[in-house]
Amino acid sequence: MQIRKALLWQPGASARKCIVAAMLALALGVGYLHTLTGLAYEFHVLFVFPVLITAWFVGARAGYGLALLAAAEWFVADRLLAGEQADPFPLLFNIGMRLAIFVGWVWLLDQMRRVLQRESRLAREDALTQLPNRREFHERGRAAFAQAQRQGAPSTVVFFDLDKFKQVNDELGHEMGDQLLVKVAGVMRLHMRASDVAGRLGGDEFALVLPNMDAAAAAPYIEELRQRLLVAMGEHGWPVTFSIGVASYGVTLIDFDAALAQADFLMYEVKNGGRDRILQRAF
Ligand code: GH3
Ligand code: MG
Repeated sequence: MQIRKALLWQPGASARKCIVAAMLALALGVGYLHTLTGLAYEFHVLFVFPVLITAWFVGARAGYGLALLAAAEWFVADRLLAGEQADPFPLLFNIGMRLAIFVGWVWLLDQMRRVLQRESRLAREDALTQLPNRREFHERGRAAFAQAQRQGAPSTVVFFDLDKFKQVNDELGHEMGDQLLVKVAGVMRLHMRASDVAGRLGGDEFALVLPNMDAAAAAPYIEELRQRLLVAMGEHGWPVTFSIGVASYGVTLIDFDAALAQADFLMYEVKNGGRDRILQRAF
């Protein structure tokens, strides 16, 4: 898990600059060591580290740059060690081979990183709406709750289920149903604060975590979201309403899973009571 995290680390601009500077220093150090110790010791294979580390964490272009530098340094060191009289052609052949291998590795690493990032994103994201999927939502929700708990802050969890969604699928087609789900996610995204966490838990179920929001603040916020969703549905002529359960905690004391279960329970109370309503409970 830690290795996965480290491999998927995306350094910011200043961290990338630091990595490039450190790897340049490492490449120069390896070149110096190679010149110092001569052909008997194979320190030059260490060039692979600055090239590959740069390619992975900074990007392919920086990796190609380091590859060029490493190959050039290696050539200069070999030339110095071989002496002025040595035949330059084998040295030039070697530099070409090394450069080709470095470039090949950088290209391969770049492709691997892209695939890894894509797979990692797909594992956490709902493919239709691009919202966090159930697993990712739980992880982020737990993290948001843990932080609110440390700060002694309030939190609210919201659980949505669309009413009569099957009717859209049956009467207007599954594709229209998909469009509707994408629209719901879009309206949620536009309404959310940066600190809120939204997720599609599956089917026509969505949820929200609202950190630092107590019952009084959450009530108008969720009502406004519901109105915006209803307007969006009305614009498309979709006969869908929303059953919404809201669990608000003045101080975030209980764990996230229990809060989500509570919001889910309240949503079912709304369903049983005739749908199209918000039921909020403060704890
Ligand atoms: P209720 O008012 O009781 O909530 O009923 P409902 O018609 O909304 O249907 P329900 O919530 O029981 O079931 C959700 C339906 O959503 C079941 C399934 O056919 C449909 N569904 C689930 N995932 C997708 C999807 O990705 N796309 C589409 N178009 N439909 C989906
Ligand atoms: Mg439903």
